[in-house]
Amino acid sequence: MRVSVMATKLGRIAARARVTARVQRATSTARGRAVDVHTHMYLPSYMNVLRKRTEIPRVVTVNGEDRLIILPGEDAELTTSSGRPIGREYWDVEAKLRFMDIHGIETSVVSLANPWLDFLSGDAANSVAQELNDELQSICEKSKGRLLGFATLPVRNPVGAVREVERLKTLKHIKGVILGTPGAGKGLDHENVREMLLAIEQNNYPIFLHPHYGVGNEHYHDSGHALFLALGFPFETTVCVSRMIVSGALDKMPRLKLLVAHAGAALPSLIGRLDSCVAHDLAIANRVEHEPSQYLKRMYFDAISYSPAALNHLVELVGEDRIMFGTDNPFFPPPGVDSSKVIDVEWPSTTKVWKTLDTLPPERREKIVRGNAISLLGSL
Ligand code: URA
Ligand code: ZN
Repeated sequence: MRVSVMATKLGRIAARARVTARVQRATSTARGRAVDVHTHMYLPSYMNVLRKRTEIPRVVTVNGEDRLIILPGEDAELTTSSGRPIGREYWDVEAKLRFMDIHGIETSVVSLANPWLDFLSGDAANSVAQELNDELQSICEKSKGRLLGFATLPVRNPVGAVREVERLKTLKHIKGVILGTPGAGKGLDHENVREMLLAIEQNNYPIFLHPHYGVGNEHYHDSGHALFLALGFPFETTVCVSRMIVSGALDKMPRLKLLVAHAGAALPSLIGRLDSCVAHDLAIANRVEHEPSQYLKRMYFDAISYSPAALNHLVELVGEDRIMFGTDNPFFPPPGVDSSKVIDVEWPSTTKVWKTLDTLPPERREKIVRGNAISLLGSL
């Protein structure tokens, strides 16, 4: 009897040790091998454009320090008018690679940061887009496999945008595109960007959908950048995706791959209500093929929620195969650290993403940290 109790106990200990070893193995495999699908740069040629501008979006130099002033209304509100500091972490490839090394990231899929080419139209939009995408391709090529890219499109020049999508096929490190929510000014559900989206769908490129403009901005006075970024950004993404669903646009592009920023913004929390409100409005319900939550299950999401509960909820809604590691670097640098030092230290914003992922079972964590991105991108 005693012997069998002992054997059971030892068996349990051995089983526990096996689980611990498995967790450690998965943890160590993933950390160091992450694929970051939400990471930005202001490419050097884009910095030149921002430095020359006299209106938002622009970069200004105040007392020898560069400041980024890009957000709508940022210059007019007292608590945001001096913008945000911008240093080499925004444009320098070495700084990106250093950040990746410190934070366990093997591969970064770099996208231009907001507001992309939304302020240019016609031929200018086209030629700057080509220059940026060639520059991104060249940076990736030199990175020995560490960097891939999401391209920028001249969205205010819809014909040029279709042409640029086709040209991307010649840039082998470009794996998809980043788009803001307005498209050519009327939203991504509008007809005026349909050809562009169809070209993207046809070429099997994922769209990394990212906010810039904010929704509800009239409520964010006297709150610095905090409420604009915490609420305005995700509300904007939420409106954009919801419009693409209820307009029927997504029914016309069933193979469109949408990678929704910031862990799906407010959609995971509101999806039940969206289903219900659509079901109770027959004209809208009859216009779409599925209930909104079904469209969500076809989308992809980064894991930038900063909350284990929110991340687990997202997994519950869409499954563990559609969520991917992201950092939002170089935004959210370590608070209070001098701009000249930020590239040498750990960033709490990214450590928080890792801590959130550490709460997941190892196999699930592994998929989110690496495997799912490889499945979405086809290869690294
Ligand atoms: N602030 C921005 O302007 N862009 C981001 O992607 C994140 C924070
Ligand atoms: Zn971002």
